[in-house]
Amino acid sequence: MTWPGFAVSLTVDVDGVHGLPAGGVGTEHRLSLRSEREYGVARGLPRIAAVLARAGAAATFYVPGAVAAAHDEAIAALGEAGHEIGHHGHLHLRPDELDTGAQLEELASGAAALSMVSPRPVTGYRAPGWELTAVTLGALPPHGITHDSSLMGDDRPYLLRAAEVWELPVHWSLDDAPHFATGGGPEALLEVWLAELREAHAEGRHVTFTMHPEIIGRPHRLVVLERLIEAALSRGAWIAPHSAVVEQLRGAAA
Ligand SMILES: [Zn+2]
Repeated sequence: MTWPGFAVSLTVDVDGVHGLPAGGVGTEHRLSLRSEREYGVARGLPRIAAVLARAGAAATFYVPGAVAAAHDEAIAALGEAGHEIGHHGHLHLRPDELDTGAQLEELASGAAALSMVSPRPVTGYRAPGWELTAVTLGALPPHGITHDSSLMGDDRPYLLRAAEVWELPVHWSLDDAPHFATGGGPEALLEVWLAELREAHAEGRHVTFTMHPEIIGRPHRLVVLERLIEAALSRGAWIAPHSAVVEQLRGAAA
């Protein structure tokens, strides 16, 4: 199945303090470490939302259940603004580091917490650390999940037929975290992302970009998101949340 048109999904992983290793457990005494994560929700998130609102662009925010519970008003506001809220575990524990029971618990607890804040049913999932397992993948449909965004097996959406879940693939080069973690500047990241955008346009396909509020939400880095949206719109891209893309894919596959 080839995506029949040029489309862009902007995705934001709102990990909060749970984005720290082991879901942040054991870091309670490390105020500096945790404060950078708290900045993400308090300051980075509204900045990103403002850029999206100015452009009239809807995004997908992947949120751990525990973050949604702790910041229910902020996350609910994203849903009310027309963005998709996606499942990103509960404590942001990597599925590959959990036994079967703990993986199922992460899914169930996250789904319950997100259902309290999302104005629409949650139908998307992204594994913490992009470490999807067969156990977690198989357990997604019973939770109403129709699409995942954790794998890298293609640069077009593809169907994980055994689980009847659409995959909207990711890649480390299209994620703000590795670039800025290794000291890269905004201009260098923008250059890579615009190059990928040009190729997606030329190939008439869908592409997903991944961001984090505590990373790209720093004021001097937001230009990357602003310019990416400008370039996408100028090339006639359909900027859409993952759920909307999957609706189109299901229609095309029917
Ligand atoms: Zn995450």
